[in-house]
Parts: sequence; C-alpha cells; structure tokens
Amino acid sequence: ASMREERIEKTKTVCTYCGVGCTFDVWTKDRKILKVEPQQESPANGISTCIKGKFGWDYVNSEERITKPLIRKDDSFVEVEWDDALNYVAKRFTEIKDREGADSLGFIASSKATNEESYLMQKLSRQVFGTNNVDNCSRYCQSPATKGLFRTVGHGGDSGSIDDIAEAEMVITIGSNTAESHPVLASRIKRSQKLFGQKLYVFDLRKHEMGQRADRFFQPKSGTDLVWLSAVTKYIIDQGWENKEFINKWVNDFEEYKESLNKFTLEYAEEITGLSKDNLIDIAKQIVSVDKLAICWAMGVTQHQLGSDTSTAISNLLLVTGNYMRNGTGAYPLRGHNNVQGCSDYGSMPNFFPGYEKVSDDDVRKRYEEAWDCEIPSEPGKDNHMMVEAIHEGNLKSLYVIGEDTGIVDANINYVTDAFKKLDFFVVQDLFLTETAKYADVILPAAPSLEKEGTFTNTERRIQRMYKALDPVGDSRPDWQIITDLAAKLGYEWDYDSPSDIMDESSALAPLFAGVSYDRLENYDSLQWPVDEDGTDTPLLYKDKFPFDDGKAKLFPLDYELEYDTTEKFDLHVNNGRVLEHFHEGNMTYKSPAINHKMPNAFIEVSPELAKERGIEEGAKIRLTSDAGEATGVVHITDRVRGKELYMPLNDNGKSAVNYLTDNSVDKDSNTPAYKEIAVKMDILEKR
Ligand code: SF4
Repeated sequence: ASMREERIEKTKTVCTYCGVGCTFDVWTKDRKILKVEPQQESPANGISTCIKGKFGWDYVNSEERITKPLIRKDDSFVEVEWDDALNYVAKRFTEIKDREGADSLGFIASSKATNEESYLMQKLSRQVFGTNNVDNCSRYCQSPATKGLFRTVGHGGDSGSIDDIAEAEMVITIGSNTAESHPVLASRIKRSQKLFGQKLYVFDLRKHEMGQRADRFFQPKSGTDLVWLSAVTKYIIDQGWENKEFINKWVNDFEEYKESLNKFTLEYAEEITGLSKDNLIDIAKQIVSVDKLAICWAMGVTQHQLGSDTSTAISNLLLVTGNYMRNGTGAYPLRGHNNVQGCSDYGSMPNFFPGYEKVSDDDVRKRYEEAWDCEIPSEPGKDNHMMVEAIHEGNLKSLYVIGEDTGIVDANINYVTDAFKKLDFFVVQDLFLTETAKYADVILPAAPSLEKEGTFTNTERRIQRMYKALDPVGDSRPDWQIITDLAAKLGYEWDYDSPSDIMDESSALAPLFAGVSYDRLENYDSLQWPVDEDGTDTPLLYKDKFPFDDGKAKLFPLDYELEYDTTEKFDLHVNNGRVLEHFHEGNMTYKSPAINHKMPNAFIEVSPELAKERGIEEGAKIRLTSDAGEATGVVHITDRVRGKELYMPLNDNGKSAVNYLTDNSVDKDSNTPAYKEIAVKMDILEKR
C-alpha cells in the first residue's frame, strides 16, 4: 500500500440511524470520513446499506457540535470546564433531592446512545439518587409493542431474525413505512418476493412504496387495525381453521379468548375499518394457506390510544394460527432508532431493571441493592409522559436528558416546553444545541458513536459492538464517561476503564445477558439475547417454551372502544412518519449536505379530492390547527393519501413540527403518545 493509503484507518462500526443495525467499516483519514464499506459478514445487512448509513456522517464533524460544557447565565450560555460543570450539576441535583425527595428527579436515557450508557443512566438514577424515575424514547414508539408481546408470548422483542422475515411464505406489514424507515430490511422482503414469490400484504393509511409493491394493499380507517385483526382471527376460528395442535400444546386461555371475539363479526369489522367482508375473508384464507407467516409492524400501530391492544391482537392472531416457534414465523415490531431496543433492554425503564426484571420483584431488587450497596424503591417510577405531567403539577423539579430532543419529539410541543420552563434545574447532554437544550441550565457535550466504544442492539435483539474511529471533538466526552464522572462527584467511584467493564457488570447481574462479553463480540461477531452463560445465543426467540411458568403462551382477550374522531371543527386527520432521507427530528441528517440537497423541505401531503374541494394547488401554503397548536407547510398533492387524510413527515428541521399539533392523548396501557390520531382544520395561506 502507498503511504497515502497507510494513513487511512478502517474501523468497524454500527449504523447510528435505524433499528436494522447495519454494520460496516468506516474509512477515516485524520478526522475525515471517507466512506463506509459494508462487509459480507455484516449479520443484518451483508453488503447493503441505505443512504443514511452511507452518507449520513457529516454531523460528526459539524461546526455546530458543542465542544465545551455550557452553563446558563441569564439568556445565554457560557463555556466552563468539565469540573465546574459537573460540580455544579452534582450540587444542584443534591440540593433538590435533599429538599424535595428523590422522586422529584427524572432521568431520560437515549436510544441513540449505547447499551452500556443506558445501563449507567438507570444505575445513576437508582443507585446514586434512589429513584426509578428513568425512561427512554421507546415510550414514544415501541412500548405498546413490547406490552402486547409481554402479555401473550413473554418477551419484548422480535421473535426471530431478519432472515426469518425473508424466509416467511407470507409477510404482513401494518403501519410500517418499511421502505423508508427500515430500507435494508425492506430490500430483503423485496428480494424474497422476487426470488420465491413471498406473499406481501400491506396495511397502511398511505400507499407508500411497499403498499405499491404489495400483492394486496389495504387501507383500513385510522386506528382500526385491532378490529380487522380480531375479525380475521374470529373468522379463522369460526371456520375451524385454527392450528389446534399448536394451541393444545402451547397456548393457554383459548376458550376465554374465543368468547371475547364475539363482537368482532365481519359485519362489525366492515363498518369500523372500511375493509369489505370479502376482503376480510380473503385475508383469513391467505393466512391459513401458508405455513410460515411473519407480521411486521411499526408506529402506525403503536402510536394510537389502542397501540398496546392492537399489538396484542397481532400476537393473538399469530398464536391462533401457530405462527410462532419456527423459522420464518413470528412477530416483528420494527424498532426505530438504532438502539431503541437496547436502551430498554438495559434498564432505562421505570418498571424494569436490565433484562426486563421487575423493580417490584423483591429478589431481583435485592440482587441489585447488594451489588450496588444501596436501597432502591419497590414502586415503579414515572415514565416520560408522567414526568411531564409531574412537572406541570409541581412534583418533578429536575430533569436530566441524554441525547433526546424531547422538546420536538414528544407529543404536544407547547405543553412539553412549558414544562421545561417550570423546572428548577434542567441538564441536557447532547451533540448539538437542540431545541430541548435551549431550555437547559447546563449542557454537557457528548460524543457520537464514531468517537467511542460500545454496543448497540438492533431490532433482531442482536448485540453488536462498535469501535472508536475518531477522538471526541474538543472537550466532548462519551456519555458513559460523563455519567461515570458525575457519579464520582456524587461520591460513587464506579471504576470502569472502558465500556467492556460496564458490560461485564450488567452480564453478571441480568440473566438475560449472562454470557454477553466483549470478547464474544469481536469485530463482526454478534449475540442475540437471551445469551446463556456459556455464550449460546438465541436467534429464534421461542424454541422449546414461552417464558411463563408452564412454558405456554397466553391468548389475551381484547375489546375495542376508541375515543377519537374528526369533528365538525377539526375535520381532517393528520398522519405522520419518516422520509427515507432524514432521520427522526433530523438533528443528525440535516447536518449532511448530500442528504439535505435531496430532501430539503417539509411538506404536507393532500389528496387530489381534498385539494379540489378546497381549491388549492401544488405548492400552496396551508396552516393546520388542532386543539393543541398549529403548524404550517407546503402542499404536495398526491394519491398516496386519500380523502380527508393528510400526511406530514416527522423530519422538518425543527420548524412547523407535527408535534405542535399532537395533543396529550396516549395509549391507555403504555402512555405512548397517540401521535397518529390528530384531528385538525386547514386554513389556506396561499393558494398558489
Ligand atoms: Fe442504517 Fe438502517 Fe440504513 Fe441500515 S437500513 S444503513 S441501519 S439507516
């Protein structure tokens, strides 16, 4: 190799965008990121990546990175040294705890940070401060899926691997814009369609790319998936088409569940969902005609008032038809952020320790109390949603948020940012001066994935390691180091030399990860949890039992009652989601000129019918108003949406965000905001 090439470093890393968890070598020279090179042995992606993984790295070297700790002085921030910043944070947290009690503090971990960092955030909250008020952004997206799976099959994760989705004879996707949100996974489905005629049925409000490619595409009315799922399941049972052998052997509560389906007749489902009886029967026939069915779902299911129940209905259908415990079958809630799975897995949740062991379980709590020499409350803490409420009620005084632009991504922005203003003390740890950070008293500069070591867990429960390619910019530090340094200021010497030590501690404490260690995760090696002490991992989650006492799964009876509709005043419905090119609120992708050039502006999709009715043309400017707030945008007329349904991307660089429109309604079982249920009215600002 020439001298020039010799100075190029290649470092294995994991994509920091979506939950597919693509891995690749990143080529760097000094601080320049030259390219990424996926490898044949990349478990989730082989030699593929999407535009974000390939070009989405400019944010690392962005001029806008925060490089020094900042403390608020009146209306601006002044740069300070780390010691001063951390001493100040420690002092203020301690004062507030002493005055108001431990439960007046709240901690929000980041699903963009590593597993080790999630572990430390909950350790800080529980050991150092003695509160279970710790949560993460899965509360905004996939908590309902986790809930639905816990109720029925016992683990909150995908039943198999992406390979299993590719191997299924039939794939159903519900409320998932897979081609744009999980591009590499979508290409696996496209390939299976081509290679062996995998059947693809897509259910969504909007005819996105996968809707166009599907064998059958269905548009049930917003928030009604639970009804068609239950009606199809009922029809299957009424015809005697259920998998009796599987149910006898592996499933409890069949009779009780069957009873509960009485309401879900084809007539009822037709009325509620808008899908015809014939279509419902065809769906049922197709499902029972295949041997291997995998169902994938995402925010179009979860971000509803009945998000947990709808996820449960998916799992019920899979159980009744025997589509668990074999390759090519199962339930696949597609995780959004790269580490949204891992952040929950590693314990940043108000009710769970790492590995989903309950804080209310005395034995489990004792194990942690002994290891950490502390006392931990037995009551679950507050989730994100409850924390915001508690701030408004005056019961939560201080918040520490890592890597989450809560002020943009939480529903009802005005309500959330009003809460920030009421805090006594607010710490934000991030790469950039985000909308949320603007409200902080202290901002701590963190380092992104390329500047640190750690592990991420993708949607397949696959734990993957990344290596450090660059030094942290300026004075920024990896989150694990910042949390460790802060704990030290509070009198807790944790003594970690590297994230590997943190992983070892959590593997010793959490049985789900017993055999996880860095030497088993070298380079492209990976482990899918649960991992036994001897290092055996579990690509197929349910092999010889379900994780309940008698080893059997449970059918969970459901009802359907929805308190949401458009009204005379708010007569339109807004749906929202991702575009391929940008990620989430866009703090990372908008810093990439290559990406920004392709997708510069936010837009609001309007159906041709509605555009005609209101007399607006392509490019018109409109204002949408809900009971929570308002947002403006430019009209794009398309038949991807129909009738009175509108669509807005989530990603709009902080301007006129859809979350000014979302309100406080939540999934009743998980407190996940019902982002997808917004009724609005439209005012025309410019007809064009
Ligand atoms: Fe990254 Fe997801 Fe794209 Fe893979 S599919 S490169 S993980 S954003």
